[in-house]
Amino acid sequence: MEETDRRLVTPIVVGQEDAEESNIRPLRLAEYIGQDKVKDNLEVFIRAARQRQDALDHVLLYGPPGLGKTTLANIIAAEMGANLRGTSGPAIERPGDLAAILTNLQPMDVLFIDEIHRLNRSVEEVLYPAMEDFCLDIMIGKGPSARTIRMDVPPFTLVGATTRAGRLSAPLRDRFGVISRLEYYQVEDLVTIVTRAARILNIAIEPEGAREIGRRARGTPRIANRLLKRVRDFAQVSNNNLIDRQTAQEAMDRLEVDALGLDGVDRHMLLTIMRKFGGGPVGLDTLGASISEETETIEDVYEPYLLQMGLLQRTPRGRMATAQAYEYLRQPLPAAWGGAQPGGRGLFDGPGLFDGRDLSEESEE
Ligand code: ADP
Repeated sequence: MEETDRRLVTPIVVGQEDAEESNIRPLRLAEYIGQDKVKDNLEVFIRAARQRQDALDHVLLYGPPGLGKTTLANIIAAEMGANLRGTSGPAIERPGDLAAILTNLQPMDVLFIDEIHRLNRSVEEVLYPAMEDFCLDIMIGKGPSARTIRMDVPPFTLVGATTRAGRLSAPLRDRFGVISRLEYYQVEDLVTIVTRAARILNIAIEPEGAREIGRRARGTPRIANRLLKRVRDFAQVSNNNLIDRQTAQEAMDRLEVDALGLDGVDRHMLLTIMRKFGGGPVGLDTLGASISEETETIEDVYEPYLLQMGLLQRTPRGRMATAQAYEYLRQPLPAAWGGAQPGGRGLFDGPGLFDGRDLSEESEE
């Protein structure tokens, strides 16, 4: 089992969770909480396309896992009154696979390709004319007698999702009319998401309990919903099924999800940088080898939140732990940094830490 499979705060889907999630997944734009900028724009584009009775322009959604890209793709289809066909970059191995998907679409369908940055080049090339002119160039035969024939595909909307837009080839990126970046959610939005999910799942929760879960959910709805379900288990055996603040706090302490939503893997990574590499900079490959993690997992799953929280810094020479990280983990600063002792300022103490903080200002790339 991979490390990510065992993590409670991983934003990646774990095991059978997909089935459980389908009940609480918002189905319409009005139920989709937060991400106001993205939502407002999409609302206009959808309404305009519907008025023209056109397919919506192709949409690229990017941002860390668990923030609602798949949910939004489903919502786009629902709001357009269209069907959604879902697949993923790695699942489409050959150009013929994609040609088969495209020719089987109904007019106005939404084709959702998750992890679109993992499409291979030859498949991508089939996608270009399909996106641009709703047609396919199909090669028939081999060698000197080979020729291409052009086939029409129905007008459709491609919704692509990726963890980082920078991973996409430029020609593919350029063919999206709408490019939207999903941000980590504010605590307030996560509290609303937890409260809504609790209502659907029939879980009794007090506002302070929801706030405690929202605060530790790493800005990520998928993690918020997962924490809710685990905390419910504790509430069931210890507190009459009611999630209040104390129950939530105690449950998450026992689950080793700390006040900032960091878990053992995050702390291990930061402590490794501090203890083995003097605080960094340490190259991604070296870091990956030291903590036995794929570099891609570190880049996509662990570090975006640590960067966002100012605990980790990305420099041209590698990753560095920040002074805040030393303070948070109560480690002495390296002598080379001036040797000051951490603590005292209480930057990370107490409640209300990142409430209202505008996480959208910091750039990921
Ligand atoms: P991604 O595709 O970005 O990995 P998902 O769309 O699968 O993320 O979202 C994960 C879960 O989080 C969904 O099942 C849904 O229940 C919840 N969720 C995501 N975004 C929202 C939102 N804006 N409002 C309410 N719930 C959300």
